[in-house]
Amino acid sequence: MAATVIDGAAVTREVYAQLEERVAALGRMNVRPGLAVCLAGDNAASKIYIRNKVRACNGAGIHSEIHPFDADCPQDVLLAALDKLNRNPRVHGILVQLPLPAQLDAELVTNAIAPEKDVDGMTRHSLGALVAGHPLHEPCTPRAVMALLDHAGIAIDGREAVVVGRSAIVGKPMALMLMARGATVTVCHSRTPDLARHARRADILVVAAGRARLVTADMVKPGAAVLDVGINRIAGQGIVGDVDYAGVREIAGWITPVPGGVGPMTIAMVIANTVRAAERSAAVSAA
Ligand code: NAP
Repeated sequence: MAATVIDGAAVTREVYAQLEERVAALGRMNVRPGLAVCLAGDNAASKIYIRNKVRACNGAGIHSEIHPFDADCPQDVLLAALDKLNRNPRVHGILVQLPLPAQLDAELVTNAIAPEKDVDGMTRHSLGALVAGHPLHEPCTPRAVMALLDHAGIAIDGREAVVVGRSAIVGKPMALMLMARGATVTVCHSRTPDLARHARRADILVVAAGRARLVTADMVKPGAAVLDVGINRIAGQGIVGDVDYAGVREIAGWITPVPGGVGPMTIAMVIANTVRAAERSAAVSAA
């Protein structure tokens, strides 16, 4: 039987409906959540991501502002702007859109965001807090995957989870979040011999490798939940995931499509983290 498709766009609508109530409650306290996005250079994909985030902010009643910087922007200019945003009370969340132009140190720039405003959960502070089991802002993509699993009613505690990819922003935090919920987690990467052997053991398979259709039906346990994080642009085919959707759909129990799965949910999690940051800031002001 074909897998149940987890419709990220539909789940996202429910998330926004819940956020609407929280944004209204903040409004009664004269607080409007605010998100600032810094964009250096003119990467076409970055512009699309930012446009989608701004659109989501508008839909959720959140203030958003884009701070554009030239492609040859010196690092101290961007750092000074981040310092200003860190101190701006109208801004509760800050994103630096990656990739940055080569002369900018992405690690240094990202870590200049104040921890309480790091709504992408990308700073060392946020990742360290996650490792310690006291997350402040969880990285949005793994958080989106967890939310989709929960929405679909997929059990995590006691299950075998396999994460393909070990990046600091997706794979590693994904593994930590699944582990925190009681899964036994295996992390695979480009140096893993026999990926298929590991993948086939997974009750929950999260694929974040950035390799189009890396995971095929023969690598999936019948009935598994397959969450496809990958976004691969292929000439003439548009956007495809890291999972061979047509084949795996026949084997898996659940599957997320690309586009329309983890992607829209990730944006909703940026908004959710921004609302939470505004709530925390309002609570501090009221105390
Ligand atoms: P990344 O930093 O390039 O990391 C990719 C990871 O996959 C690395 O750990 C790499 O291993 C591993 N890998 C590469 N080829 C592999 C293979 N053949 N077998 C097993 N593992 C392999 O990418 P990322 O930032 O984590 O993003 C991963 C994908 O998710 C990309 O397509 C990206 O566009 C997408 N993404 C989507 C969202 C969303 O909202 N849906 C958000 C973020 C990212 P090594 O460490 O050994 O190199």
